[in-house]
Amino acid sequence: MVKIDNPIRNTDILRQHGRTIVILAVLLFIPFVLIWYISSYVNEDIFYEQKSENLLSIARVLDSYLVDGGYDQILAEAGVLDGTREEKITALNEALRQVTDDVASSSVGLGVGYYSLELDAILTYGPSADYQDTVGVSIGETHPGREVMRTGVAQVSMGSMVRGNIMNAMLPVVRGGEIIGYIWANNLVSELEETLGRMSSVILFLLIVSYIIVMLIILTFIRRMIRSEQMSKQALSRALQETQHRDRLMRVVNDAVSLLLTADSDTFETALQDCMEMMGIAFHMDKIGIFQLMSNKSRNSHSYETAAYWQTKSSGESTDEGAAENLLAGIQTIDGWKESMRRRENFRLTSGDLLEQELAHFSSTGKLSLLAMPVFLQDRYWGFVIYCCVHDERPLDVGEEAVLLSGSLLMANAMARNEIMLDLMSAHEAALAGTRAKSAFLASMSHEIRTPMNAIIGMVAIGRASRAPERKDYAFDKIETAGSHLLDVINDVLDISKIESGKLEISPATFRFSEMIQRVHDVVSHRMVEKKQAFVIEIDPAIPNTLIADDQRLAQVIINLISNAYKFTPEGGAITLSAHLVECDGIEATVRIDVADNGIGISPEQQTRIFESFEQAESTTTRKYGGTGLGLAISENIIDLMGGRIWVESEVGEGSVFSFVVTVGCLYDDPANEEPSDTECGEDDLLSCTDLTGKRILLAEDVEVNQEIVVTILEPTHVQIDCAENGAVALRMFCENPQKYDLILMDVQMPDMDGYEATRSIRALDVPRAATIPIIAITANVFQEDIQKCLNAGMNDHLGKPLDIDEVLNMLRKYLLE
Ligand code: ADP
Repeated sequence: MVKIDNPIRNTDILRQHGRTIVILAVLLFIPFVLIWYISSYVNEDIFYEQKSENLLSIARVLDSYLVDGGYDQILAEAGVLDGTREEKITALNEALRQVTDDVASSSVGLGVGYYSLELDAILTYGPSADYQDTVGVSIGETHPGREVMRTGVAQVSMGSMVRGNIMNAMLPVVRGGEIIGYIWANNLVSELEETLGRMSSVILFLLIVSYIIVMLIILTFIRRMIRSEQMSKQALSRALQETQHRDRLMRVVNDAVSLLLTADSDTFETALQDCMEMMGIAFHMDKIGIFQLMSNKSRNSHSYETAAYWQTKSSGESTDEGAAENLLAGIQTIDGWKESMRRRENFRLTSGDLLEQELAHFSSTGKLSLLAMPVFLQDRYWGFVIYCCVHDERPLDVGEEAVLLSGSLLMANAMARNEIMLDLMSAHEAALAGTRAKSAFLASMSHEIRTPMNAIIGMVAIGRASRAPERKDYAFDKIETAGSHLLDVINDVLDISKIESGKLEISPATFRFSEMIQRVHDVVSHRMVEKKQAFVIEIDPAIPNTLIADDQRLAQVIINLISNAYKFTPEGGAITLSAHLVECDGIEATVRIDVADNGIGISPEQQTRIFESFEQAESTTTRKYGGTGLGLAISENIIDLMGGRIWVESEVGEGSVFSFVVTVGCLYDDPANEEPSDTECGEDDLLSCTDLTGKRILLAEDVEVNQEIVVTILEPTHVQIDCAENGAVALRMFCENPQKYDLILMDVQMPDMDGYEATRSIRALDVPRAATIPIIAITANVFQEDIQKCLNAGMNDHLGKPLDIDEVLNMLRKYLLE
């Protein structure tokens, strides 16, 4: 409520509204004068008229006192009917004097009397005490009484008559149809005027009083008007002051937040501090803390973190590092604070609301005004901002709070925006790094593919040119090595592509650990011989020999680690593959594999990157050692999928140890349980001991050289092969003689009719064996979805290109011999 400090004085009113009051007084005075003027006239007329009526009535009263027989009857009764004029006048005076006096005394100043026409004399004139001497006197010839007696019409006249200047009401006296005289009743004009004057004075007095009252009412009204005007002015000026104050604060907030919005991520922290300082000074605050709610997804919990904190240097408060945390801890001990934030309401505190130990969190001066404001961004609770004043207990008004709220929201918004910017920048960086790595990868891929291709083409030329069989064999060996390296590169690319699309799968199966290690040894050992490197294998005998896991993938990881060790260890170095049993409960065994070398080693910084796809420790690595930077990424993914962990310990120049642990299923060996091996013959002589005499295969393959390869590699098995150059021909050949074939090898991509359609058509035929004849896909599409597509089309199995002779033989044995 607005309080009026200065009461209004009348002098103030006169000073401020004197002119208006004078004009009003004059304007009002005119109608008052008019009223008085008109009323005095009207009053006089009414007065005289009333007086005339009154006097006539009195005359009538006198007339009623006169007997019906008139003067003659009185004279007769007095016995002077025939007397002299004087005797008659005397007799009539005696008879009527009392009546006259009685009537005259009824009103002050009244004069009444009888006149006789016959005697032409005044008979009585009351009050007789005053006018007895006029009895017997005749009225003048011009006296209006004569006209009354002549005309018989009553009349009221003003003028100088017997008694003096009077108002005289005259009534003819008629008896027996004759006018015998007249009766009068009169008043002295001077007396009437005196009465009239008194009445006018009263009216004038009343008018003046009314005028004064009206003027007083007007003055009171003006006074009230001025008071309310002054009140409005004061309220207006206070509102203006408040608006100006708020405007100034808004400008400060605006300037402060502009700093934030124009800052880039490098200068953001400084800008935020400046922004808080500007707001703190403008709002007389000593501390500002911005606290953001962070969620910990793994623990499914939330907690506040200090996003920013500012404190004035002059507050005298401790400025140690924990000041912000102290403020946060303090507010969290106060009841009702959380509810306020949840309800989107500001939370206010002053020192009076707090116990001494609670106050210590916020202020060391003993004084406190605190405001905690919730911040919601895009309708989601973001956190809150605390404003503390420790030198005053002045709570902020609603306007100031509104401005502070805008400031808080803008600060939080800017902070959220900055966070997004930082995320975007790091995502951009990551994307750039990824692009750089992929470009480097393409370059090294080109190198990795060209090198063996070069070897193949070169060796083909050497082999063709040479006549000596040893030289030709040498060329074939080199071509085989280069070819298998090329296949490794392609397999790596396929694997990483599977990993990136989340399609890398693990297929656990029972296998012999020692056999798997032997396979690894067979693949890698000959390389070490070339580089004169010592290769030691240490196997913990406690490891159960029969394990359940994806042995192919396990071997792939170990081969990759050993290949790297071989690659990054100079000639004459040493490489050790060791396997330890970490623990085993009879159902599961945790096995640790270490591949150690004394090669070039890897720096700690490089160690953090080498498990990422396309990353190599150094850009020079490709040039010097080759490689695609995919091996470790693939290895890590495989180990991840197996639920294990892979890591490296290394020192530059000293060597590296790559280790992984996996937990796999295990079976303790029982010789009786030993599974018969897939084949009775060893892997080396799989070809020579596979006899498919009497079996006939239909091979659908459009590329002639591929037909030739299949026919040539299967020649030793004595299997008969009919070739079809596309799906349509294969379908026709099968239709012509369905019983002729024991198995169909079906390429997938062929002109006219592809392998899928050909298979579907064969399966749909209504002929014997159409539904049962094994159809094996041979295709370079080796992703799981490609295999699934083949199975969906009705094929039984799948062989990947380039064909692996052992895989082909095993497949044929499975479908033709078992
Ligand atoms: P690649 O060997 O094809 O380059 P990898 O993913 O297998 O790709 O290895 C990534 C990088 O890690 C290598 O380029 C190399 O810099 C580093 N590295 C891997 N193994 C070793 C090792 N045993 N000694 C030194 N550096 C290694």
